[in-house]
Amino acid sequence: MSFAADVITLFPDLFPGPLGASVLGRGMADGLWSLEATQLRSFAHDRHHTVDDTPSGGGAGMVLKPDILAAAIDAIAPAGDLRPKILMSPRGKPLTQARARELALGPGAVIVCGRFEGVDQRVIEARALEEISIGDYVLAGGEVAAMVLLEAVVRLIPGVLGGADSHADESFENGLLEYPQYTRPQVFEGREIPAVLTSGDHGKIERWRRAQSVELTRARRPDLLGD
Ligand code: SAH
Repeated sequence: MSFAADVITLFPDLFPGPLGASVLGRGMADGLWSLEATQLRSFAHDRHHTVDDTPSGGGAGMVLKPDILAAAIDAIAPAGDLRPKILMSPRGKPLTQARARELALGPGAVIVCGRFEGVDQRVIEARALEEISIGDYVLAGGEVAAMVLLEAVVRLIPGVLGGADSHADESFENGLLEYPQYTRPQVFEGREIPAVLTSGDHGKIERWRRAQSVELTRARRPDLLGD
């Protein structure tokens, strides 16, 4: 069983974009995950393929119509489809590494990209859409946000990155930021690789990395330490 991602968007040509490059693209070619981007407009029933309308109560911009979006969701994820249905939204729960990991172990995701002022509230409720935000700022549309979500998730799908261990130490995986990394040359513009890393003493290296992680997290993200 591989991870199946469906994206509902007014700009399907933007996909796979960066998701088709490097290890994620290779994972897709190897069948570890799949991605389908569907044009929301193809579910509109009028001659002009209208997908939006003015906000009830007045105000700027346009709102995506609930009936058109519901038709798209129902076509892509009929009853019995167990994948979570997600709406990219600045009002959503902030994306975390923990949620990305959960999603990566599941059957996939159906992701709705908003545009304009957003989406009619009734379709969010009627289709139980999980609102996810990628940060406290406002984008012009959900497409880049969906790519961020998928990139975070897909690299965690078993087999995509290789090396089963390669995530364990990463930032956020253990509640800490990652320790600093070094590679050759031994001296770069007069700066040496910390001696401990070339000592060959794995216990010492482990302790040094852990201490660096804690120090970095305390300095930059004390909120992660919860103290
Ligand atoms: N009027 C809305 C913003 C609409 S932005 C508000 O104030 O909340 C248009 C679309 O871009 C949204 O529907 C959403 O799909 C996407 N978007 C914008 N910012 C986002 C963010 N931080 N995270 C996820 N999606 C975002």
